[in-house]
Amino acid sequence: MKELHLHYKRLGTALALVMVLFGSTRAFRHYFSSEQALHQELAEPITANKSSEPEIQETTLTLGNGGNVNKLLTSFGVSKEAALQITNAFAQYVSHRNLKSGQNFNVRYKRSEQGVEIESFQSQPSIDQKIIITKSDGNYVSKAELIHLTPVVHVFEGNVHSSFYSAAMKAGVPTKLVQEAVDVLSYVVNFQHGIKAGASFKILCDALRNDKGDIVKIQQLRFVSLQTGGQDHKLFAFTENGKVRFFNEKGESVVRSLLQTPLNAAKLRVTSGFSNSRMHPLLGYCRAHKGVDFGAPTGTPVLAAGEGRVVSCGWSGSGYGNLVHIRHSGGYETKYAHLKYINKSIRPGAVVSQRQVLGGVGMTGTATGPHLHFEVILNKHHINPMKVQALPSLKLTGGALKKFDSVKSATQQEMVNFVQTKAVTGL
Ligand SMILES: [Zn+2]
Repeated sequence: MKELHLHYKRLGTALALVMVLFGSTRAFRHYFSSEQALHQELAEPITANKSSEPEIQETTLTLGNGGNVNKLLTSFGVSKEAALQITNAFAQYVSHRNLKSGQNFNVRYKRSEQGVEIESFQSQPSIDQKIIITKSDGNYVSKAELIHLTPVVHVFEGNVHSSFYSAAMKAGVPTKLVQEAVDVLSYVVNFQHGIKAGASFKILCDALRNDKGDIVKIQQLRFVSLQTGGQDHKLFAFTENGKVRFFNEKGESVVRSLLQTPLNAAKLRVTSGFSNSRMHPLLGYCRAHKGVDFGAPTGTPVLAAGEGRVVSCGWSGSGYGNLVHIRHSGGYETKYAHLKYINKSIRPGAVVSQRQVLGGVGMTGTATGPHLHFEVILNKHHINPMKVQALPSLKLTGGALKKFDSVKSATQQEMVNFVQTKAVTGL
């Protein structure tokens, strides 16, 4: 307060002095108005300058097919010289060969009559590295920033209503992980008739999380479970000699000599409820019909259910249309009917591996819609493919089984822990 008073006192003295100097209040007024004008004169060019000074804007540029950083910048309006400088600065950290189309660049820039001037150029070419290029003394300098990632366990879960694939997508499971889970499950599950609508699944995997809490990378699939009807399939990953394989709770390998679903199964629509199979062959197996039908879009890859040798393939006269017949070990045979086409490599006598593509789903022969008719024969008798008790290819014993059991309990504990954390963050 004291200072303020003093200030006013001084101002008063100054005003009095001015009045004395100019002699009249009029002159005083004149002085002030001209000073105001002077201010305006000075102020105007400053504001004019400010408005002509281009504002810093932000945008995201995306690398197109076959594009490169240099082209991206010049087509954005950056001078050739600056574009080259930025390109070279960027190349100090990331080789252009490692850039993929779709790569985003966050750009801060000014646009004027002279063109576009880049203030900063940022990109994250890998999940754990950010490249930042900034302008400094007229030159572009780059630096790399490491993004801290924490290894975590992540669990996806959901309920199947139309297909496993759409349920998994809804639960946010990345496509590659869905396929891995389906591949593992298709040894033991019939993806069309063995999954009832409402079935629940859980997928546990290793993942990497950034500091914001986002999962930025999914790594190894570690556990998958599918609970449907009275069945509860639980499959655990177990690594031995650097090789990851899946085993059921008993330590038996999920790999069976025959697949339950000899199709790319992820997108198969499940049959809702299992009524009388005699009513409609598409609903399952009946003795008269000898096989199981899988309704699937035309062209869906049909896979060899197991390793074996092709007995015959091609057009069959008995309503089967295009048919492939394979003989496996242990007295098993499989047949695949109504195929739209048969792959060229499938010839009588050819050896096929499990999951090898035989052809595509079609509706050749007697068929009302595209579907795969699949038959399993054991010792010359047709059997229900859904009841095939193919033996596991491997059963863990001794020390390996002990190790597996500890991996299994650790994984089960991780499942429990994950649910707990989720509950805490959900509050
Ligand atoms: Zn059929």
